[in-house]
Amino acid sequence: MLDTGTRSLIPHVPGLGEIEFIHAGNWLEHSTLPEHLAVIGGGYIALEMSQFYRRLGSRVTVIEQSEQIAAHEEIQMSRSSSRNCWKKKKELFFTLSTEVVSTRPSAEGVRVSLKSNEGIEEFAAAHVLVATGRLPNTDDLGLESVGVKASKRWHR
Ligand SMILES: Cc1cc2nc3c(=O)[nH]c(=O)nc-3n(C[C@H](O)[C@H](O)[C@H](O)COP(=O)(O)OP(=O)(O)OC[C@H]3O[C@@H](n4cnc5c(N)ncnc54)[C@H](O)[C@@H]3O)c2cc1C
Repeated sequence: MLDTGTRSLIPHVPGLGEIEFIHAGNWLEHSTLPEHLAVIGGGYIALEMSQFYRRLGSRVTVIEQSEQIAAHEEIQMSRSSSRNCWKKKKELFFTLSTEVVSTRPSAEGVRVSLKSNEGIEEFAAAHVLVATGRLPNTDDLGLESVGVKASKRWHR
């Protein structure tokens, strides 16, 4: 049995390689609290980590490309999470149906460029956290050499 775990999936966003971003694998190495954290992705890891940073005092903006946070969950559960996180307590700011198209270093930390139906806009944040999914650690195991076929869904 192989249980080699997963790692953060880092999307191909232009400029991401030029900034020092946080993800689930390195966040404990960062000892400074960002004043404003831009979170790419609105899944359960993004929401868990957003709440963590918000509770410590960061302003947090969650950018999610689909129409709802926790998009893999039922719509009722997603709506109720939105209400609890945002409308009632005004804790997290959600930017839905919006894609991060690029990032670049700036005096404030980072400039994040967003694309939505309303067009392209840019905002400043101190730091970026990437939580856009997980990849299994199976790509360098040589599974093909023993005739094991991995699902294409996981090999991007
Ligand atoms: C931020 C975050 C929050 C999470 N929160 C929750 C939660 O609240 N509740 C929950 O149920 N789950 C949660 N999960 C998911 C949970 O961590 C995983 O589902 C679980 O750890 C998977 O267990 P695993 O044994 O498959 O892999 P892992 O726990 O990742 O273990 C894999 C092990 O394999 C080793 N390994 C890797 N490659 C090799 C190799 N080639 N040879 C030998 N060893 C190797 C690694 O060093 C590691 O020790 C969370 C995940 C993240 C990232």
